[in-house]
Amino acid sequence: MGERDEEDRPFETTQGRDGGAGGGALTDLTRLHVHEMARLLRTGEVSSRALAEAHLAAAGRQNHALNAWLVIDRKSALAQADAADRRLAESRRPGGSGVAALHPLCGVPVGLKDLVSVKGGQATAGSKILKGYVAPFDSTVTARLRQAGAVILGKTNMDEFAMGSSTEHSAYGPTANPWDLTRVPGGSSGGSAAAVAAFHVPVSIGTDTGGSIRQPASLCGIVGLKPTYGRVSRYGIVAFASSLDQIGPLARDARDAAILLHAVSGRDDRDATSAPVPVPDELLDLPASDDEAASYLKGRRLALPREYFVDGMEPGVAARVREAVAAMEAAGAIIEEVSLPHTDYGLATYYIIAPAEASSNLARYDGVVYGFADRSSGDYIADYLCTRGTGFGPEVKRRIMLGTYALSAGYYDAYYLKAQKVRTLIKADFDAVWAAGFDAICAPTSPTVAFPMGARVEDPVAMYLSDACTLPVNMAGLPGISIPAGLSDGLPVGLQLVGAPWRELGMLRLARAYEAITARATWRDLEPAELHLTDDPTTPSPLERQARRTQGAPATGSGDQP
Ligand code: GLN
Repeated sequence: MGERDEEDRPFETTQGRDGGAGGGALTDLTRLHVHEMARLLRTGEVSSRALAEAHLAAAGRQNHALNAWLVIDRKSALAQADAADRRLAESRRPGGSGVAALHPLCGVPVGLKDLVSVKGGQATAGSKILKGYVAPFDSTVTARLRQAGAVILGKTNMDEFAMGSSTEHSAYGPTANPWDLTRVPGGSSGGSAAAVAAFHVPVSIGTDTGGSIRQPASLCGIVGLKPTYGRVSRYGIVAFASSLDQIGPLARDARDAAILLHAVSGRDDRDATSAPVPVPDELLDLPASDDEAASYLKGRRLALPREYFVDGMEPGVAARVREAVAAMEAAGAIIEEVSLPHTDYGLATYYIIAPAEASSNLARYDGVVYGFADRSSGDYIADYLCTRGTGFGPEVKRRIMLGTYALSAGYYDAYYLKAQKVRTLIKADFDAVWAAGFDAICAPTSPTVAFPMGARVEDPVAMYLSDACTLPVNMAGLPGISIPAGLSDGLPVGLQLVGAPWRELGMLRLARAYEAITARATWRDLEPAELHLTDDPTTPSPLERQARRTQGAPATGSGDQP
């Protein structure tokens, strides 16, 4: 341990100073972490423009085979990168504000899930009904990223209105998993996860209503963090289920996730549910040294809930999670088995509450204000029905019907109200763990590794079960993180850590400690197994694969582009 500390290592690049040609060993800028980029940008060893160019090139070359991006905005990205370079140069100048005052995200490329509003850009939420909609304002997350100096490369693919666990419910075609192009990246933030796993960006923004950051992070072998409900403003984010939705980072390590979380967190007057809880600056200083990071585990009390090793969990997943827990125990953590007895009700109550809130949130898509409209009939009511009939996909319609039913007179008490009461019991299970003095809960993120495209898309309940281990965390409003914990059958397995409310920092320190104690594991430095195929222009697109599977015939064209 200790020798991976990049601060000790001189950086060598073919780009050299300011991204120009230079000597040194071959180093691909897309392999850098945010904390490494920040250091090189500050010293001037690399420019934001060089970083943007390298990442745009990879995304541009490989998106055909992955469909991780719905938009790659080269022109805007390069303008933002040049602005970041000016800001960096200005603060480096003698008498300038000093580079230490800059956020580590200054000059760093990021991706945004396509439900984050960026003024003047699209926000389709993966739906046809928002095709053509142009956001008239920046979301608070966007504004804070701009303030930090981040460089937004584009918008990533997602399940329609964030409903799904595979990104196959996108109206713009599915996304492929770079570990195996015939498999899903998870969802609903599958585009954001695949883009980070494929080195198109070091970090991206996703949203998590029942698992949509953690589950795709798990399936793509990266880090994904769902903050405490109220940590990040939801202003300007297309709503799915307002009492559950949270925005959070996807990254390739805990330090980078912490940096992105720091940039977007904090109270916002435009979102009444955002909490006036201070954002710890220590998020920017997770230990670089593995020895220091690992020492955090000593004496930590970690709870292992027996209900999370659910029926249908793949043995390889359970094995990796138990090995991870054993490794933390060997490093000084105290592991105790606990019971969260209402876990089993998580799925049933989630699928009352989330659709109920969604049915209300989605009522606004009436063909008048937003995006797509079918005005062919000339009659207001008929146009409304046609717009919603063709604008929404089947999963969204299923949720609207479920939710409307659960909220209707006579059923409200039996379903919605009852579900809210069970939600309180689920939260009380977690509260008891914190009251007993545990630092975090350890569990699997997903019961399975990445599954084949098409395997669950016709079976909604099988798809819903993908989130059995993540949904209860949203029901209780808690922070949760998924971190890579090795492979099963050559595919990534995620370890989930859940913390008490507002304890993201402690959760990230634990995640960083786990990274430190597994720094030399053979799986650590593996790149996604089929990433190299994405450079081949003859590799079929996910939409072509889907068409071949469903029709047995090759598809033509690249599908419906927003
Ligand atoms: N898969 C879950 C659903 O479809 C969770 C999605 C999410 O977190 N946005 O509702």
